[in-house]
Amino acid sequence: MAEAIELMPIGLAPPRTRRAQPPRHLADLDQAGRRAAVEDLGQPAFRADQLSRHYFARLTDDPAHMTDLPDSVRSALAAELLPPLLTSQREQQCDSGTTRKTLWRAFDGAFIESVLMRYPDRVTMCVSSQAGCGMACPFCATGQAGLTRNLSAAEIVTQVFAGARAMASGAVPGGVGRVSNVVFMGMGEPLANYSSVLTAVRRITAPPPEGLGISQRGVTVSTVGLVPAIRRLTGERLSVRLAVSLHAPDDELRHDLVPVNRRWQIAEVLDAAWGYAAATGRRVSIEYAMIRDINDQAWRADMLASLLAGRLAHVNLIPLNPTPGSKWTASDPDVAQEFLDRLASRGIPVTVRDTRGDKIDGACGQLAAAPLAG
Ligand code: SAH
Repeated sequence: MAEAIELMPIGLAPPRTRRAQPPRHLADLDQAGRRAAVEDLGQPAFRADQLSRHYFARLTDDPAHMTDLPDSVRSALAAELLPPLLTSQREQQCDSGTTRKTLWRAFDGAFIESVLMRYPDRVTMCVSSQAGCGMACPFCATGQAGLTRNLSAAEIVTQVFAGARAMASGAVPGGVGRVSNVVFMGMGEPLANYSSVLTAVRRITAPPPEGLGISQRGVTVSTVGLVPAIRRLTGERLSVRLAVSLHAPDDELRHDLVPVNRRWQIAEVLDAAWGYAAATGRRVSIEYAMIRDINDQAWRADMLASLLAGRLAHVNLIPLNPTPGSKWTASDPDVAQEFLDRLASRGIPVTVRDTRGDKIDGACGQLAAAPLAG
């Protein structure tokens, strides 16, 4: 027991209870795995390709629409390979229907949330990678309840599938469209659920009928800074964007804001991030929630600029979104502007993230998947 506790990295809380795995789904499997699964069910392998085309190209999981499959096998194949994984429990909208948050219930009663955001030039799905989160960042609503469990690859892909289908059906104001971007910035720490997240990224980005055909460059994986996992991701030769939730330029403050910093400190996290940037040629996004009188001092802007000077990095300032029970609030706009100016004057690319979805508790850090709230 003592040994198990020692092996548990700081901040990685164990799941509260051991649960059954989510049912297997087409999106968990690659093409070879799908063919093998279909053959195990006594069907010719090409039926796997037919099913894949329905799901990933035509965006349907309804056997009634699969008219190229014999009546007798449709329902059986769909029941085995397209089981319902997530049931929509509640939809909330704002921005005239162009921001939509869905509360999902999984097979075991776990709740997660995803958010679709339509902009003039892109459509972003913000997805959850875990039910809850074990990282315990004190300013984040998800972090307050702890980790329930990892999501399966297909549970992650299903969130994007739902967004893709809503866009394809014309349900989102602005006409028929496609999901162009996927950000792992919903509930959970994606790199603490590495293999499911990687499989999900591959399914989301593979061309149809293997996957959903979204460009790797449109996918962002956001992390608190799990260094071994960043290094592993670097070796995958993907061109997804990496975002690092830094929030402080000094370890003393980051220990409090991002508790896993006690395990991997800023220098090591940034070193891994620059390794990723070098391998992919892509700018790393440095996330920095602006918290009034906590991390928004001018000297911290200067210190951040020194850490990032000459690096392939871009700073995303996020005005702190309020979360229940938190004593913290967003920085004063003048203070935030000064912080931004100091970074910009040192040549650091910097933008301010909009607070899309805050009216429906769907903005960064507000996803709590509370089924009775709101
Ligand atoms: N666990 C991952 C991804 C989830 S959160 C990560 O930490 O990167 C996505 C971003 O929202 C992170 O940068 C996170 O720190 C930030 N965030 C969390 N709570 C927030 C809040 N209350 N206001 C603004 N941003 C917040």
